[in-house]
Amino acid sequence: MRPITRGPSPQQQDFADYRDAFPDLVARLEPSCSFCERRIATQLAVEHIQPKDENRYPGLMDRWDNFLLACVNCNSTKKDKDVRLEAFFLPDRDNTAAAFDYRPDGRVVPSKGLDHACVARKTAENTLALTGLDKGPAQIADENGKIVAIDRYAQRMEVWLMAESTRGDSAFSPTVVMRRQIVKTAQATGFFSIWMRVFEDDTVMRQMLIEGYTEGETFYGFPGTARDCFDQEAQPVSPRPNCGLQRGGKI
Ligand SMILES: [Zn+2]
Repeated sequence: MRPITRGPSPQQQDFADYRDAFPDLVARLEPSCSFCERRIATQLAVEHIQPKDENRYPGLMDRWDNFLLACVNCNSTKKDKDVRLEAFFLPDRDNTAAAFDYRPDGRVVPSKGLDHACVARKTAENTLALTGLDKGPAQIADENGKIVAIDRYAQRMEVWLMAESTRGDSAFSPTVVMRRQIVKTAQATGFFSIWMRVFEDDTVMRQMLIEGYTEGETFYGFPGTARDCFDQEAQPVSPRPNCGLQRGGKI
């Protein structure tokens, strides 16, 4: 789960309607789900970290700091479940790059550094369950019987293979041009965390994935990545440096 920073609210007051925040969120964070990291052009919506419920969470329905972006899968799993900020790792306030590991078979699991009995591991598990990222693959076949990647799990497997393939290319020819092409490919496929994992031994490539780059007027990479969540070796800084948000920096 990519650690992100949405920056200060684009307006002084809360939004009159939370839907109005959608364009700003997309501009700051790119059009991808803040939980599963899928890049999707449609079916993406303003996500309330703490649900739209004035009784349980008064004043948060239209507040910028309570917004992320989510796909229908993550959103429909999370629904209006109770979200106590201390019980979950959240990409806007914790270093979620330190909390989860991505595997070639499509699984997302708590980081291996988290001891089985520790609170952080339980918190990581809570977070995966909250959004359904712990779910296995949906076996859906097309008309020819071929399993198609329509779910998050299968898409992670596909992107892993893509990232591995480009890693092979870059090992053969590690030029700046090649690395920039990899950033563009990663941006197009989404799943920042998978690209970071596949290139775990390539500090230069990881730094480029974190920072992105600008060509002419155009930025390539992953807008909104919380750069201060990574050190000079492109490894996660944990706990997350102070993000100024309530219950931040749990990992
Ligand atoms: Zn999602």
